[in-house]
Amino acid sequence: MPEPANGCALVTGASRGIGAAIARGLAEDGWRVGVNYRSDRDGAERVVDEIQSGGGKAVALGADVADRDAADELFKALEAEYEAPVLVLINNAGISRDDLTPSLGDEEWEAVIDTDLTAAFRLTRRALKAMLRARSGRIVNISSVVGLRANPGQANYAAAKAGLIALTKTAAIEVARRGVTVNAVAPGWIDTEMTANVAKDLLEAVPARRAGTPEEVAACVRFLASEQASYVTGAVLSVDGGLAA
Ligand code: NDP
Repeated sequence: MPEPANGCALVTGASRGIGAAIARGLAEDGWRVGVNYRSDRDGAERVVDEIQSGGGKAVALGADVADRDAADELFKALEAEYEAPVLVLINNAGISRDDLTPSLGDEEWEAVIDTDLTAAFRLTRRALKAMLRARSGRIVNISSVVGLRANPGQANYAAAKAGLIALTKTAAIEVARRGVTVNAVAPGWIDTEMTANVAKDLLEAVPARRAGTPEEVAACVRFLASEQASYVTGAVLSVDGGLAA
């Protein structure tokens, strides 16, 4: 079983929003946490300060996960900091670059696929080395309701998030015998910077008639990262106020 005493946790894209809430939550559960950010160093340092003032342990780790070498650099830095293997990986870093398919540019396509899908693959591959050796580990991929059902203007994002679900399921069954679980969470509309400019009348399509909070997503991730979720693998947990139902 992955236990905080034996390892540490890496949350990508944790300088704000859902990733920051997950980092705080895992620290509350006793994990020593790597708080990854790309450019928002101040945000990541704030998250680390909050965790430390609550008695937890965390370190800010700058890296663009879309870089080919980022997975290795992040794991080396975190493992050296805590002299412990990474037993929990949360692939949360994500971007969107919306446009309708006929006008969607190559650059927008590649940026989203590289950040939201390829980076998660490389980090998962790197994480599994130590997890398989330890016969213990938890990987949670932050997908999206858009990976399950269509949303106009988001072909790149939807392809990445659906790909993340396929990656989750495949990796999950490959390692299920070795005490490692791989799951996905599919949030709907969550109140963060990413959704700050979305027209609020779209909330009428959400059965719960409100946006979710980062903490509501983090609660599900904390469960999937816990010992209690030991028989849950290859699953996709919707956290969307009923949007995908
Ligand atoms: P935000 O835009 O609020 O935060 C994104 C975070 O990811 C930031 O910390 C950002 O750091 C980091 N990040 C972005 N690109 C990179 C990169 N290349 N390398 C490292 N870090 C990076 O997003 P949310 O919190 O809303 O979203 C978090 C995840 O949840 C994403 O994967 C998103 O797709 C997913 N999601 C969000 C939903 C929502 O409604 N908000 C719904 C469904 C899924 P920095 O600022 O330093 O670049």
